[in-house]
Amino acid sequence: MTHKSKSSSAKTAFFPGSFNPFTIGHKSIVERALTIFDTVVIGIGHNIAKEPTEEVDQRVKQIADIFRNNDSVNVISYSGLSVEAAKSVEADCMIRGVRSASDYEYELNLADANRDISGIETLLLPALPQYSFISSSMVRELQAFGSDVSKYLP
Ligand code: ADP
Repeated sequence: MTHKSKSSSAKTAFFPGSFNPFTIGHKSIVERALTIFDTVVIGIGHNIAKEPTEEVDQRVKQIADIFRNNDSVNVISYSGLSVEAAKSVEADCMIRGVRSASDYEYELNLADANRDISGIETLLLPALPQYSFISSSMVRELQAFGSDVSKYLP
C-alpha cells in the first residue's frame, strides 16, 4: 500500500468503496472532490476471504490508469475498516456519494458509526442527476445479460 507524500497544509480526502466496477458516477465524485481537496485517495475495500487478491490488484491498476495524468489521485486497496485505511493515508476526511434517499439513510448511518469509532468525518456529495441511476451492481447485471455497458465506464 503506497501513496504519494503530502505537505502538512494539503487536504486529503479518502474515497472508500467496492468500485466493482468503477463507474462514471464514481469518477465524477472524485473530480468534484478535487475542487475541494488537494488529493483524493481512492480505497478499494475488499474482503480477503471473498475476493482473490489478483482481482483487487487488477482493479487498482485499472482505476489508477483512469487517473494516470492526474497526480492528485492515488489508488490503494485495503481490507478491514475504512477508517483505518483513511488514517493510514493521513486523510482529513472521507467522502461518499449519495444518489437517493435510501443511499442517504445508509450513508448517514455509516458516517455516524465511522465518526463514533474514529472521530473521522464523512463528507457526502450528492450524485449528479444524470449519473444518479448508475450503480456498479446495475453495470454488473447488464454485463451478465450481454449489454454494452461501456458508456457507464470511464
Ligand atoms: P460500497 O460497496 O462501499 O457502497 P460502491 O463502490 O458501490 O461501494 O460505491 C462507493 C461510493 O460511491 C458510495 O458512497 C456510493 O453511494 C457512491 N456512488 C456509487 N455510484 C454513484 C454514482 N452514480 N454517483 C455518485 N456516487 C455514487
